[in-house]
Amino acid sequence: MIYEPIPSPDGTTIFSYHDLMPPTLGDIYEARSTVHQYLPATPLVRSEYLSAKLKADVYLKREDTLPTGAFKVRGGINLCSQLDEEFRKRGLIAASTGNHGQSVAYAGRVFDIPVTVAVPDDPNPSKVAAIERFGATVHEIGQDYDAAREWAEEQAQEQGYRYIHSANEPLLIAGVGTAGLEVLEEKPNIDTLICPVGGGSSAAGYCLTVGEATDCEIISVQSENADAMYQAWQTGDLQQQKTADTYAEGLQSRVPFALTTEILRENLANMITVSDDAIRNALQVMIQEENLLLEGAAAAGVAAALAMTEDLSSQTVVIQLSGRNISMNKLSALL
Ligand SMILES: *Cc1c(COP(=O)(O)O)cnc(C)c1O
Repeated sequence: MIYEPIPSPDGTTIFSYHDLMPPTLGDIYEARSTVHQYLPATPLVRSEYLSAKLKADVYLKREDTLPTGAFKVRGGINLCSQLDEEFRKRGLIAASTGNHGQSVAYAGRVFDIPVTVAVPDDPNPSKVAAIERFGATVHEIGQDYDAAREWAEEQAQEQGYRYIHSANEPLLIAGVGTAGLEVLEEKPNIDTLICPVGGGSSAAGYCLTVGEATDCEIISVQSENADAMYQAWQTGDLQQQKTADTYAEGLQSRVPFALTTEILRENLANMITVSDDAIRNALQVMIQEENLLLEGAAAAGVAAALAMTEDLSSQTVVIQLSGRNISMNKLSALL
């Protein structure tokens, strides 16, 4: 059957097969048994440089070590493992600046489901190459992430694909939340956890695990050039912004998303913004001091920690390193 769109709470199309209930802690434990069949737990490694710099005990959650180079694949695996039979043949469609697309493409390969990914014009070429390597079809369409998203939503409606939203998907959030369970088990007593926010799935996953089970404050970070979720988190109003033109393409969205905004308003201690210059600086610091190659989105958490030195002193802090898929152009410009 062809699904008719149901009214959307947030300016993105929601199809009738979408459920907008936040996942429970139980859902996240259930996701873990699936996710760990396909993906390793990621390391939590002390940063000597940041610990000295912040006068704190700082650990890096190395999501960059996953096979797609970013945390999102946890969600893709969980969602595809539970896909309705009718979509297994017809296939999946997603819109992405790259890492969500890699996640869905990787999971599609694991579960043998065809995948189409819409990326904006002028995408990060190494992300596109990776999506194609996983066997998915890539369409370059639209001036930014949200334009590609609208095209993918139309295609889903016309062709009957299962559209996979990057945030309004409880199964993605539950899958992504498995990183929080790993942190909890290794370091049950942390004071602050910092992670970047684009659509908010990752921050939601940490809120529902570490945030729910302990006194840890979850702090999330957007680029000040793409702050739709920041605005929505502050006001509760799902207001579209005019632009989302950030250096960190993994954080690009003009539209704040309903499900993640709801979870973050309930559970997040604080959201802050950092400049794109601070993100570039954090990328350079991580190369120089840790010999770690990250992409812009992943450096936002480091940039926030460097801006919050006083608040974090003497705390135990975890910073999520969300991904490593930087383009060669951006890398050579940085160096
Ligand atoms: C998608 C992404 C983010 C943002 O995650 P959301 O769950 O959309 O908030 C951060 N870093 C990287 C590397 C990403 O790919």
